[in-house]
Amino acid sequence: MRAVVYHGPHNVAVENVEDARVQDPNDVVVQVTTSAICGSDLHMYEGRTAAEPGIVFGHENMGIVVDVGPGVVHVRRGDRVSMPFNVACGFCKNCTAGNTGYCLTVNPGFAGGAYGYVNMGPYRGGQAEYVRVPFADFNCLKLPPGNEHENDFAMLADVFPTGYHGVAMTELRPGESITVMGGGPVGLMAAYSAVLIGAAKVFLVDRVPSRLRLAESFGAIPIDFTGGDPVEQIRDQTDGDGTDRGVDAVGYQGTGPGGQEQPAGVLNSLVEIVRATGRIGVVGLYVPHDPGAPDPHSQNGELLFRVGKFFEKALRMGSGQTNVKAYNAYLRDLIIAGRARPSLVVSKELPLDAAPEGYQRFDRREEGYSKVVLKP
Ligand code: NAD
Ligand code: ZN
Repeated sequence: MRAVVYHGPHNVAVENVEDARVQDPNDVVVQVTTSAICGSDLHMYEGRTAAEPGIVFGHENMGIVVDVGPGVVHVRRGDRVSMPFNVACGFCKNCTAGNTGYCLTVNPGFAGGAYGYVNMGPYRGGQAEYVRVPFADFNCLKLPPGNEHENDFAMLADVFPTGYHGVAMTELRPGESITVMGGGPVGLMAAYSAVLIGAAKVFLVDRVPSRLRLAESFGAIPIDFTGGDPVEQIRDQTDGDGTDRGVDAVGYQGTGPGGQEQPAGVLNSLVEIVRATGRIGVVGLYVPHDPGAPDPHSQNGELLFRVGKFFEKALRMGSGQTNVKAYNAYLRDLIIAGRARPSLVVSKELPLDAAPEGYQRFDRREEGYSKVVLKP
């Protein structure tokens, strides 16, 4: 079968790999109808991780079940399903507590499992014609049959729940205000979730015009950080108070095309802008090791974080991978009910063979490439 294979920094190719097949009794094989490219893939793509050549990318997968292992009881051949990017067993201490991003069975001692991701278990990605899904009864979310809402449902594997999770960690209440740093697909979904939850004011900070326009289209207030310190711009629009809550949807950007000069800049801006006793949700990913980083501190994932200010304001912070299963069924039902349309972030559909171009352009944050979905 055809699949997107990592060859090294800035180099992916579409080539033939061994077919996905049922290996364990709990597996199913899904024929992939949509697999999205994620900002998280860029950490590997740009060479900021220990990813070795040969990884098949793709953790935002959906499709049709075509083969079912003998131990699977709930999922059936022909079902249309979405898979959380987390691979989880469903029965370990973390899974039973709802923390499916930290499954202790699939990847003991590390941060859970995922498809096609370095250090997250042996699970091959779904930017391919087929993908094997382990513990399938737990990891498949059933979708209505047909092809309606395809790109909306494609956002259920990661960015919609992840944006929602960023906001949920801030415990935002209706009528409050929130700052979202970063207007990539994750930041846009965070701002969108804040609007759904009923925030009175949602600021979204980025520099890419199309991303800022998209935020404005659903009621967020765009803040272009190339036009001046975002902290000052937001203070000016909140009578000097800042916002009740804040989300970091940027993370570590390295020194690549979308990069920041100072890796802690975003978190420190949130410490400034969130009102005392407020909360910050960090979903942007801070890679633990960046072998290419010029600064040895960022090589170890260390930051110049203003913990004094953080303490003085009695702020609280949540972070980490999203437990997608905590949200995906509810968000699916919002889509079915016509109350959410997360596909608004999707800007490009490409055939699998065009993946190398899709990666290159998304990596450069080119206009029109904010969220690329591959159609194997
Ligand atoms: P992305 O990398 O395109 O989004 C980042 C955005 O931040 C870009 O639009 C960029 O222009 C903007 N940006 C860069 N520097 C900035 C700054 N100083 N201030 C404000 N904005 C700035 O891709 P994405 O898919 O939206 O992913 C965002 C982050 O979320 C990545 O780090 C990704 O790994 C992470 N992520 C985490 C989870 C999770 O489970 N926690 C899931 C998916 C993605
Ligand atoms: Zn993702």
